[in-house]
Formats: sequence, structure tokens, C-alpha cells
Amino acid sequence: MNRTMNAVFSKLLQAQNILVCGHIMPDGDCVSSVVSLSMGLEKLGKKTTMAIDWKIPSIFSPFPRVERIIDYSRYSTQLENSDLLVIVDASSPDRIGRFERLLRYGMPSILIDHHATNTRFANLCWVEPSYSSTAQMIFDLLKLMEVSYDGDLALMNYLGIATDTGFFRYSNTNSTVFEAAAELVKLGADPCMVATAILETRRLEEFFLERDAIDNLRLLSNDRFAYSYLRVEDFERYSLGEDDFGGFVGDLRSIASVEVALFASESVGGEAHVSLRSKSYFDVSSVAVAFGGGGHPRAAGFTLKYDGDLEEALQEAVELISRRLESHSKDATL
Ligand code: 5GP
Ligand code: MN
Repeated sequence: MNRTMNAVFSKLLQAQNILVCGHIMPDGDCVSSVVSLSMGLEKLGKKTTMAIDWKIPSIFSPFPRVERIIDYSRYSTQLENSDLLVIVDASSPDRIGRFERLLRYGMPSILIDHHATNTRFANLCWVEPSYSSTAQMIFDLLKLMEVSYDGDLALMNYLGIATDTGFFRYSNTNSTVFEAAAELVKLGADPCMVATAILETRRLEEFFLERDAIDNLRLLSNDRFAYSYLRVEDFERYSLGEDDFGGFVGDLRSIASVEVALFASESVGGEAHVSLRSKSYFDVSSVAVAFGGGGHPRAAGFTLKYDGDLEEALQEAVELISRRLESHSKDATL
């Protein structure tokens, strides 16, 4: 039995009013972990508040309880009166947006996360990179706490396991993933509903934006490295935001010759989110960390701030990646 998971269990039992906080630019694992942990704790008689300091992407609107997640502007210290902050799926304190203040104010905190680059910034840290997803950690935790699942909780818990494994395709997909998913399906999660909500709700404008991103596509290092970017004005042309265009970096990686893919989305002038993916051997998390971000060996990201033009600002990361790719043989771990 995992000792840290047990320590998390007993701290949760002692608390009454728990603030469950996910990360900015929330993905399926983040939303899933926040909602399923909150649902599970409420079944044990706790009061919870769900918090993510970002606008929740519309693909998550069909899922139960998501509309109850608040951002920092709706968080009121007096009203919420939380005695414990539980942070999920966040690898560094800047990832929780303005809720980071609560750590500085000294609110007791627990961190539950699966990023190898985690900086362990809470009082009690349960960080386990061997897990596919934070949602799978929540699944093990709620089982340990003997929470009885209903269909909505099973669905919300399944969501993060499915999305963080790329619907059971990525290298983090192992037998424990299928076991957890199978149990959650037995408990009422509907895999088709999740896949349809996440994968089959694209807007036509996203395809137009994809055309622009393909226009900017460059291949380097014998076609092993693909990168592209979109500027603010590209998003504005179709009234889309960077949150509406998350899958493209995965499409770049899907090119047969490609090992590393980089995609940058400019959110405002002088600031872009950079997503990195690799296929089988290049550790992109080390590149992300070098630029102040983090993530996993096969999926990582960072925020880039710059004066001037995005394409120029990207060159430092582009050169670092192509240099590393070219100086190593294909079989070496980078
Ligand atoms: P994505 O490219 O989909 O935004 O993120 C891929 C992975 O990298 C996720 O696991 C995410 O948590 C991590 N990641 C993305 N951006 C950042 C960042 O700015 N900082 C940190 N620490 N991790 C990031
Ligand atoms: Mn995750």
C-alpha cells in the first residue's frame, strides 16, 4: 500500500471544507480530477469547492458538475472558508493561476500529480509519474477511501484517464489503465459519450485555422522535427481562442518521419503557449523545463514571452531541438 496515498487519505478525512484546484489551460485530466475528487469527497460528507482559474473549454460543458467550477474572481475567502487546498494535475505553482496566493497565505495544501517535472510545492505531495493520469490516481484514492461510485462519478473519473492516454494510444497506456477504465465503465461511464464529446465536436472554423497552421509548417532535421505556429490575428479571424485548437501538435507528431513536434499559439501580443510532443525517444519535458515550463517525456509545454515577432522568438527552442536531434543517433534516449 502506498504510504503517501494513505497520508493523503487521512488529511482529507480530517478536513471539513476542501478547495479542489486544477490548472490553467485545463485539459480533460484536470477537469476530470477536480470534479471526480470533489464528487467523491462529497459522498464522504465533506463540503467542497471546485476551482480552476481559467475559462472552461466548451467541450466540457456536456459533463456533470463542470458548470460549478469557479475561477479566482468568484472565490471569496470569507464565503468559502476552506481548511484544506488540494491541487490536482499541476506541476508547478504558476500552473494554478491566482489560486497560488492561497499557498502564500499559508492554507494547508496537498498536491496530487503525475508529472515527472513536478516541483513539489505543497505541504504534502503525492507525485507519481508512473500513473497515466491524475484521474487514475484519484480513482485509486477514492477506492482506498471506499467511496461508492454512481454513474456520474464514474463518467467524470473515466474522462481524464481516456484523454491523458490519447484514448488508450499513448505510451502511458498499460494494463492498469485498462483495468481502471473497465471498472469505471462497469460503474456507469459511457466511453462513446466521452469520445464523441471530446473528439467529434470540432467547429468548421478549426479546419480553416488548421489550413493557416499548415501554411506555417516547417520540417527540419531530416523531417524528424515538425513545427508550426499561429498568431493572435489568425485566431481572431475565426473568433477562436488557443483553447479551441489543442489537437494540432498531435497531428504534427502523426507524420511518419516525425519524432518531435512543436506548436506555438500566440495568446496576446508578446506571449505564446508552446506545446511539445515526441513519438518514441526524445524527452521534450527537458526542453520545456529549460524554457520555464514542464510536463512529461512525450508531452510538455511552456509559455514564451518575447518582444517582436513570434516566429523569430521561437528560433531558440527550434534550434535547441534540432541540434539535439541531429547530435544523437536515433536509438539514444535524448
Ligand atoms: P499541452 O501541450 O497540451 O498544453 O501540455 C502538455 C503537457 O505539458 C501537459 O502535461 C501539461 O501539464 C504540461 N504543460 C504544458 N504547458 C506547461 C507550462 O507552461 N508549464 C508546465 N509546468 N507544464 C506545462
Ligand atoms: Mn494530466
